[in-house]
Amino acid sequence: MVPRSLATRLFVDTPLASGMEIALGESHSHQLRNVLRLAEGDLIALFNGRDGEWSARLAALAKRSVTIIIGERLRPQPTEPDVWLLFAPIKGPRIDWLVEKAAELGATEIRPVLTRRTVVSRVNRERLQAHAVEAAEQCERLTAPAVRNLESLETVVGAWPKERHLYVAAERRGAVPMAEAIRADGAPAAILIGPEGGFDPAELDHLAQTGFASLVDLGPRILRADTAAVAAMALWQALAQPPLAGRSGHAHIA
Ligand code: SAM
Repeated sequence: MVPRSLATRLFVDTPLASGMEIALGESHSHQLRNVLRLAEGDLIALFNGRDGEWSARLAALAKRSVTIIIGERLRPQPTEPDVWLLFAPIKGPRIDWLVEKAAELGATEIRPVLTRRTVVSRVNRERLQAHAVEAAEQCERLTAPAVRNLESLETVVGAWPKERHLYVAAERRGAVPMAEAIRADGAPAAILIGPEGGFDPAELDHLAQTGFASLVDLGPRILRADTAAVAAMALWQALAQPPLAGRSGHAHIA
């Protein structure tokens, strides 16, 4: 049986190997002691995006710090489908929701972009990064997506890595249905969602001519930007790649 506390998964930015002792800070201590009510001796799971998932025993749990000792590896690090989500930032809690869902749906990078009609001109990158990490911890991913700083669409397109195909969600353009456009070739990809006011037609014309982007349609209804992001991410994950290996790879610790 997997102990209840092993359902607690923490992302840490440190190498992981059996027998290592790691000191975590106050926020982790608060989460483990006060929120999850774990105690010394309990087991949790750790991942860092590189070394797989490891069991770890809480060795000392103080108010401002936690010492944990790494046990055995529970899962090796899988190769994940590589898809970025780019989106024009939206207001209020919906941007938090969007980032959380993007992390659950396997985005490897989350990139807010400023388009001509974007109304929101500031993004709290650190807060969004924290949401992305929390979502990754809860959905059993072994990586956490990086949230990038807000950049203009022009800058992003100007520095685009050409081997990464960009699917641009474009309503009302008679674009090809996304399900037909997706290339199931295992290559890295990215999805771009426009602002609430939609893309400026000139932006779409330019993207269509780059050679690395396709304009794609998500069906007959006009979706909110956050809904469009989730629909496009789910479609890409379902059609572009084989299912993630390793979901049954948990080692069970009694
Ligand atoms: N103001 C626009 C309009 O009424 O035509 C709608 C913009 S929509 C709320 C926000 C973004 O979601 C769009 O820029 C697009 O990227 C994406 N989107 C929404 N519905 C879509 C659809 N049916 N097909 C493709 N993209 C869609």
